[in-house]
Amino acid sequence: MRNVALHLSGHKARSYGGVPAARAVPVARTLRRRPQARQASNAPAAEPAFRMASRRTGQATTVVVVADVAIGAGGLVVIAGPCSVESRQQIRETARRVKAAGARILRGGAYKPRTSPYEFQGLGEKALEWLAEAREASGLPVVTEVLSPEDVDVVGDYADMLQVGARNMQNYALLRKLATSSKPVLLKRGPAATIREWLLAAEYILSGGNPNVVLCERGIRTFETATRNTLDLAGAALVKEISHLPVLVDPSHGTGQRRLVTPASRAALAIGADGLIIEVHPCPDEAWSDGEQSLDPAQFSTLMDDLRGMMAKCA
Ligand code: PEP
Ligand code: MN
Repeated sequence: MRNVALHLSGHKARSYGGVPAARAVPVARTLRRRPQARQASNAPAAEPAFRMASRRTGQATTVVVVADVAIGAGGLVVIAGPCSVESRQQIRETARRVKAAGARILRGGAYKPRTSPYEFQGLGEKALEWLAEAREASGLPVVTEVLSPEDVDVVGDYADMLQVGARNMQNYALLRKLATSSKPVLLKRGPAATIREWLLAAEYILSGGNPNVVLCERGIRTFETATRNTLDLAGAALVKEISHLPVLVDPSHGTGQRRLVTPASRAALAIGADGLIIEVHPCPDEAWSDGEQSLDPAQFSTLMDDLRGMMAKCA
């Protein structure tokens, strides 16, 4: 097995990408509520913006452990798998192939948040069972999305990590419920969420009692339509600086196009992301969702070789 586990400089709090962590707190202050907004509301004058998510001076990146995989410990953790779980065979085969290429965690949607109610909504609990079987067969822990507070317990019974999708980043009932879960949470940034809103969403989970939060930049909505979303890598780098939480990048949803996944992954590695989440399907052209942005297993393997090469050069 060839896992990507090379340690990179630039992940430690003391000097992040050449910016001393001491700057993190002043930067966080600039993200506080603006004075005008404060006057217009009853908010306290000195809002403790990110009480628990802020990186204090000298504080190292928090390591979030998913089963036996450490995210934030200095290596690049790659999560891979299909957008949606479609069959027992599909998820099992994908797990085998992505593991062989070096992925550390398996992804796959059982409950799908689709823009249209007429699109495939996911296979639900049956898909959770197949995900758990694929974990047993491959040894890869599993992350999958949970859409509503009512589903947190059942999804938590099968998954090793619970994903909050972009559309749900400000579903506060869901965040509060996840705060009581023993499972780590992958919190995607909302497509129209500011960094402040994203970190405050993380605060709901942290302050409610769950310290295991991993952030994920997956692209935001801008005037640009040539790519599905605009992958905000500068935002991801900023969040790495001001927060101690690990930050992943999703180059699949962040670009929407298969051929852009590799350059975006390389860029994410360069800005110091703690990991990537990438859509891989055994036959992307036949995928039930997000096929156009999915890699096939051979393309994923080539990408992993490429990332390992990049890390070896930087070592
Ligand atoms: C997904 O991971 O398949 C997904 C729906 O992602 P997002 O919430 O970022 O759109
Ligand atoms: Mn998808």
